[in-house]
Amino acid sequence: LDFHEMGLDDRLLKAVADLGWSKPTLIQEKAIPLGLDGKDILARARTGSGKTAAYGIPVIQRILASKQVIGVTQDVRALILVPTKELGQQVQLMMRQLTAYCSRDVRVADISSKADLSTQRPILMEKPDVVVGTPSRVLAHLNAQNLVLHSSLEMLVVDEADLIFSFGFESDLKNLLW
Ligand code: AMP
Repeated sequence: LDFHEMGLDDRLLKAVADLGWSKPTLIQEKAIPLGLDGKDILARARTGSGKTAAYGIPVIQRILASKQVIGVTQDVRALILVPTKELGQQVQLMMRQLTAYCSRDVRVADISSKADLSTQRPILMEKPDVVVGTPSRVLAHLNAQNLVLHSSLEMLVVDEADLIFSFGFESDLKNLLW
């Protein structure tokens, strides 16, 4: 299955072409159609396997598709949890590259850095569609009411889930998700 056969938005296909990706990696080929379909996915792959785009592409495509139908939404649609700020930055960069041609329709905010909550607050005031952050950071912003996750939240990604579950994030995760 090629990127062109996945039913992706032209803006997404253009970004993928700019990145020089000629075909999906194995995990992308398997995960993207399921993600587009709204299925729950548990995937495991080596570093460098293209996992970020494996979830990033369905997240972006689903937001683009729904915006064509219902117009501009105001609430966070996808939450991407990462174990560290370094991974958060990498994910943010990948998402920026993939949304290069649709950055107004799919806004991504990275709150994984350790900057003050008050310093990060403006990032969240810009009504992002996608939020990238560590569980503790996301929870802190929820508690400070800088971030509101309504029923509009439809996609949850736990990147490097093995690390997230072993970093002592367990109670943060419980507070966040249950
Ligand atoms: P990741 O596993 O998400 O950290 O990605 C590892 C590297 O693979 C990154 O530098 C991506 O830009 C690159 N990459 C992701 N998907 C593809 C693809 N389909 N073809 C070639 N390179 C890719």
